[in-house]
Amino acid sequence: MPQGQSISSVLGERIERSESRIALIGLPFDARSSFMRGPAEAPSLIREALYSEAGNLSTEYGHDLGSGSPILDLGDLDLGSVADHEPPIRAAIEAVLRHDLRPLSLGGDHSVSLPAIEAIAAKHAAVDVLQFDAHPDLYDRFQDSPASHACVFARVMERGLARRLVQVGVRTLNPPQREQVERFGVEVIEMRRWDHVAALTFEGPLYVTIDLDVLDPAYAPGVSHREPGGASTRQLIDALQSLDAPIVGADVVEFNPRRDPARLTAPVGAKLVKELAAQMLDTPPA
Ligand code: MN
Ligand code: MN
Repeated sequence: MPQGQSISSVLGERIERSESRIALIGLPFDARSSFMRGPAEAPSLIREALYSEAGNLSTEYGHDLGSGSPILDLGDLDLGSVADHEPPIRAAIEAVLRHDLRPLSLGGDHSVSLPAIEAIAAKHAAVDVLQFDAHPDLYDRFQDSPASHACVFARVMERGLARRLVQVGVRTLNPPQREQVERFGVEVIEMRRWDHVAALTFEGPLYVTIDLDVLDPAYAPGVSHREPGGASTRQLIDALQSLDAPIVGADVVEFNPRRDPARLTAPVGAKLVKELAAQMLDTPPA
């Protein structure tokens, strides 16, 4: 998929011919990773697992994502040579939204969520953000960079993009990030309090971002920052299925195939894509 000004017209042509309600878009970008590269290789592998004949495209509540094509797969955005990934990602998500599709992005490191949320926030005045993550990603700067994937949600809050930011599954809160939680009024359900997830409610349009390291490494070893003591795949799916607010956009990020020699993690990413898509189809329009 091309970059720059032609993104909208190329997307537009494909979207206009589509009856789909969700746009799947790969964001192969990992240059804001703090520890190791690799997540740029994730989108094609998640897609391969999604369409693999090892499984089918039915969701647990019976949506068939393979027939009648509720999902328009736009392929991967070409981010190979960009210095700043934010403008092309924002433009692509804006194009998707202009055609009344809901974007479901495949990362990439977590920095891809920032321009996606920015595009969502420009369309929907007040958006709540639900982040599943072992980490709060709230550093003001990390390794001297304000653009690191470890700073994404500080930037989201500073830019006023989220009405509420709710973080679930966090188990790495250190003093500087605890200060940021207070400063920005972030609602955190730490992993040790996972049972509080069942009581979560949202009123308005919701953006859901899943950093795969929210899962215990036993379930999803293919991440850069393995943090033991995490959620099971089932706990995460149950949490998704309990959401009742309109999900206006979502992403699955931080799958690192270089950390996944047994190839266990792509099917987990694909399963989450299916169940996220089902929730997006089931919830009313925003
Ligand atoms: Mn993380
Ligand atoms: Mn993260």
